[in-house]
Amino acid sequence: MLKYPTMPSFVGKAGCQPNAYFDHPASTTPLVIASSAANAADSGSLYRTNGIKPRRMASWWCVFEDLLWPEKSVVLKIQRRAESFAKAGIDTAIIFGFHCRFDFANYFDRLHGYLRNVAEELHKYGIKLMDHYTCNIVERPRSPEEAFELHRRHRHHVLLYPDPRARAHQQYEGVFFNDICEIDVRTGKRSFAIPYTTESFCHNNPDFLEMHRRYLQRQLREIPLDGYQVDDMCMYAGTISCGCEHCRRRFKEEYGYEIPPYEDKSFWGEANEHYVNKGNYENPAFRAYIEMRMRSVADHAAMVRETIFPLQLMTCCSASGPIHLNSLALDLDHMKPHLDMLMLENCGLDIDTADWPRAEAEVMAQKDIAVQIQRKIVGEPQLRGLDEPELTEQMEATVRGERVLAPAVALSYTIYEDGAYLGWSLARFWGVGNWCSTLHGRLVYEPTDPSLPESSELVAPYNSWEDIHSPIDCYSGRDIVELRLVNNQINRLVGWETPADEAHPAPELAQGHQHWHEVEGWTRALIKHNIGYRQLRGEELADAEQLTAEDTPIVLAASGVISDAQQAALETYLAAGGRLVIIRPCGLINENYVARPVDLASLWSERGYPGLLVVGEEYRIHNLVADVAEKATSAEADTTDVASETDTATSADRIAAALVDLLVAAPINFSPVLSIVSEPTEWSFRLRSHPDGFVLHALNRGLIGEGDPNLESAFGNPGRILKSLHTVQPVGYPQNIRLRIDLAALRAALRTPDHTGITTDNLFSEKSKLISPEWDTARSVILTTDAEAPNDEITLTLDLTDTRIYAVVQGS
Ligand SMILES: [Zn+2]
Repeated sequence: MLKYPTMPSFVGKAGCQPNAYFDHPASTTPLVIASSAANAADSGSLYRTNGIKPRRMASWWCVFEDLLWPEKSVVLKIQRRAESFAKAGIDTAIIFGFHCRFDFANYFDRLHGYLRNVAEELHKYGIKLMDHYTCNIVERPRSPEEAFELHRRHRHHVLLYPDPRARAHQQYEGVFFNDICEIDVRTGKRSFAIPYTTESFCHNNPDFLEMHRRYLQRQLREIPLDGYQVDDMCMYAGTISCGCEHCRRRFKEEYGYEIPPYEDKSFWGEANEHYVNKGNYENPAFRAYIEMRMRSVADHAAMVRETIFPLQLMTCCSASGPIHLNSLALDLDHMKPHLDMLMLENCGLDIDTADWPRAEAEVMAQKDIAVQIQRKIVGEPQLRGLDEPELTEQMEATVRGERVLAPAVALSYTIYEDGAYLGWSLARFWGVGNWCSTLHGRLVYEPTDPSLPESSELVAPYNSWEDIHSPIDCYSGRDIVELRLVNNQINRLVGWETPADEAHPAPELAQGHQHWHEVEGWTRALIKHNIGYRQLRGEELADAEQLTAEDTPIVLAASGVISDAQQAALETYLAAGGRLVIIRPCGLINENYVARPVDLASLWSERGYPGLLVVGEEYRIHNLVADVAEKATSAEADTTDVASETDTATSADRIAAALVDLLVAAPINFSPVLSIVSEPTEWSFRLRSHPDGFVLHALNRGLIGEGDPNLESAFGNPGRILKSLHTVQPVGYPQNIRLRIDLAALRAALRTPDHTGITTDNLFSEKSKLISPEWDTARSVILTTDAEAPNDEITLTLDLTDTRIYAVVQGS
């Protein structure tokens, strides 16, 4: 599933035990789940293969003609493409197309023959194959106009919907599709979901679940797959769905409520036909309804995982933060107990992709969820169906580097090579696997003479460069965490936001200002100031032991909801001297929507905790944005000092500076590991520790996307499809950046004995070079130390002149 690049009128997709293996929660420490031959034999599958460790994924696009398998032209095409994937260094291929899988029910034999052929060809080269499909939506255009739009927007699904008269007869193994659909509570008829022009099968319908389970079992028998992405695990029709008998019964039995008629405003809120309708969160029955829908999806995911085990399961959530996702029942937190992999969908066909920091908050949130999954597996292996010997075996397999537990992979869409280069660079910067994908089906028309290149061709030069010059295993990297940024999903789950007004308009698809928007704003500030951080999520915020286990400061920005358990844990943390920045409001209500007599920011200020800094709402992102805009306006009218200040700093710079100023002030007294000591720069840096040494990634924020003048996106005008990337820095403009590394702060951030010995000599040696895929030769790195305190800091001088996107320094 995809977030719409320019018209996100729907948003798609777009208590942990600390333990020795995860001393650092933000790293994707490699661990391994054994997928042994014994397991394969027990499963009854003919084909089950070993697990996957996806560092370099590419989409294996399918088209309508592929259903003609076993025609020789299709078989030859499979052979040619498998070879090209191997040449491009791809380790994992993933199916794209044949998406709404049950629309192909009459052709499963041929489709599975095709997929089997693909898997067998890829396996000859050691490349794994994951299937990728949606189990619960079927395309159902209701008019010629809707059919036209469907083909304009979603051709990449390989559209094979039935004739209107045939729909009533469509079935798989005796289950008729019309009988298992979600029901619209307004009409009592089958729900219709606007985003993909679909009807949807109900996650609580036992006949659907059994049909899907039987389909999975058949797949396992017929195709030697290595993993699954089961997509669209949500409810696209919105809150008005589902009012079927199974959902009504479940709501009554498990929560004691009835789903009321749509006229009941105390439940549904003000009438609003938009499918991301918010509803009345103050009503406990509505909150229960929202939760039940998420649990229903999660229970379905659990069934899928149980059926395919020990193969790995991934789903897709291109977004996890904003409140409107509740209406889609799209929630990674509910699904995470049943997932083995996370994919971070960094949507990117559009020229706006050049502004890559906008993807950071979501990526880092999901990377943290991946770490929570890792912890859960290790802390409570029985939840994964593993016994102790199996877990031990996995630990040993980890050391062999064969498989990674809960890997996180970033998907970047692109049509041209620059987009592939940026996606590859981002994966390195974020320390995750890279999934490169074209998305020709989102073009209104796809040129054929010459035809557009494939995913593997686009990323091949970068994989090749990596092999030769910088063969880093992303899964062995450990993030440098200097700060914990709270992303408290309880705010989303209870629908908390503060009102928008004309001067402070709500972001897209929101009705007000949300905690999530603060998280997004902070991540931009932290990128700009090169501060290593991780997101601290709701479960951890309720765990005093985990909070106090680290001494990095915590930022808690506009979390109107704080659960009672989170309050208790934070009070323990504060009493122990923990550093906490609070931006009001904080803890107005608890998880049950009960208002506290005194908000927690005020309560804790009264108590005078030594490490606490409380600031007002003027530091909320929308207020800072309005404040900067106002200053810019007055500066235009007044050409005095303010104007010159506006000229030299963008509004984003000024917002970032305002936030980071909070960190350095007492009592937080934050001192960053990395700081730019030369002129301000658009380059961002991220330092990561690997077993073989430190790696410093450099990524340019000053990118401008140039569109293809001819290609038209289904969601934008010609000129919006990213063709190439340019820099704001003029050609030849010197970029000699001096970057200071505070070694004491680095040692503190890493917190492990093996890093207490970090010195200027072993961090980066005199032999360290700055390299980039854009240059033929490496550039020198000038190292300088303070003669009086040689073990306290080191300054690197890096020449990034005439470099567009990415460069890296690898340690000794
Ligand atoms: Zn239902």
